[in-house]
Amino acid sequence: MNNAMQSLRELQKKLYALQFAMNVVDFDANTIAPAESFSGRGEALEVLSGMKYQLIANPSVPALLEQAKTEPLTEQQAAEVRELLRIYNETSKIPANEYAAFVKLTSESVNAWGKAKAASDFSIFAPYLEQIVEYRRRFAAYFDASKAPYDVWLDQFEQGLSMEQCDAFFAQLKTTIQPLVQKITQSNTKINTDFLKATWPIEDQRKLSDFLMDTLNIDRNHCQIAESEHPFTTEFYKGDVRITTHYHENDMASNVYSVIHEGGHALYELHMADRLQYTCLSGGASMGLHESQSRLFENYIGRSKEFIQFIWPKLNELFPTQLANVTAEDFYKAVNLCEPSLIRIEADEVTYCLHIMVRYELEKRLMNGTLAVKDLPAAWNAQMKELLGVDVPDDAHGVLQDIHWAGGDLGYFPSYALGTAYAAQMVAQMRKTLDVDSLLKNGTLAPINEWLEQRIWQFGKEKTPAELLQNACEQPFDPSYYTDYLVKKYSAIYDL
Ligand SMILES: [Zn+2]
Repeated sequence: MNNAMQSLRELQKKLYALQFAMNVVDFDANTIAPAESFSGRGEALEVLSGMKYQLIANPSVPALLEQAKTEPLTEQQAAEVRELLRIYNETSKIPANEYAAFVKLTSESVNAWGKAKAASDFSIFAPYLEQIVEYRRRFAAYFDASKAPYDVWLDQFEQGLSMEQCDAFFAQLKTTIQPLVQKITQSNTKINTDFLKATWPIEDQRKLSDFLMDTLNIDRNHCQIAESEHPFTTEFYKGDVRITTHYHENDMASNVYSVIHEGGHALYELHMADRLQYTCLSGGASMGLHESQSRLFENYIGRSKEFIQFIWPKLNELFPTQLANVTAEDFYKAVNLCEPSLIRIEADEVTYCLHIMVRYELEKRLMNGTLAVKDLPAAWNAQMKELLGVDVPDDAHGVLQDIHWAGGDLGYFPSYALGTAYAAQMVAQMRKTLDVDSLLKNGTLAPINEWLEQRIWQFGKEKTPAELLQNACEQPFDPSYYTDYLVKKYSAIYDL
């Protein structure tokens, strides 16, 4: 390895170590840290992120990158140089004091959001969100003043994504989804979900989580489950990935699909190639790609008739009384109920993307300055009425339901919808060579995992999202796979 590349590897290891520390702090904050501990944590994160900033936004970095390129590089080394240059360009454009202040702000803002949500009072959170929008608009101009601020952030979360593409993508989804929802709500098929609201002892739900993790072939020596208000996944490194879930005594399905969803994220991180460890190429290629893996497991596997057939004996073993008069078919239909509702994370597969569209439209307007933060709750309620036809009773069940904006993430939501659509295309491609239905019926997920590892997981950030999708599906992204899947599945469930 040439000298410059050697120095760049050392830099990457330091960046890895700082990120590791910040992820531990973040994981702790969201799981067992006491409620009033945010201020000290904010101070610590400000220092850590300042150290990270000093390392990367350093004039020696572009010089080293230039020097490295004069020597012959392996494919991976060339990718490291490319990724480091991207991080350098992004970071060095933001003044150090603003970067640190923003990190501190988001830590405080998450705390304020928690209080606002508990009190269902948007005014507690509004001053923080105003500052966040202001920072995000200013940072976007530092990156690329020629682009609309929201385009800059869409591209940050999903390389190459723009409002133009999102507008076209969502328009295509809307054309299929809105009429489908209408047909479903008018259909005579009634799905019984009452049994899901029985009492499901949490101790038994924990046993079910373990069973699901085993079925997904997640190595528990490298991946543990904790509990948090909202389920999430954090990777410290490929040998230590954490997922969280939330147990509700009167809703067993919530934990089942949280574990499978986060399990999908975890599998992606656990199966990065070893050679990428401690480099800037480790980690999912994009938010959209990450969501494609979690939603592939949650929906295309977890909510399939075949997978439910496989877990049915286990469910009956753990919950014989709760499921005494229920069939696997009843359960399949209940966990696939389609019904316009208030909360995104509880939304069904059909209406889910409508929830994303609500957020997309509002983020677009916040970022282009045509919507003031103080007017956000009213705009939210109007969008929910227009797209989903539901009335929002209060801010806790409306504009305050998600943590993303409090964490400073504007432009993240579209990646959920994109990921869902990527997954449909991947599954369609997988079906050409694997008998997916038989594998699910037998609970034999190894060949599916192997398919994903070979085409997606192992590469980390070595390839762009578009390259990975091309690599896996042998064609560019096409949302029709997703809309076709929805129409076929739900026409059968609702006898349309
Ligand atoms: Zn996710």
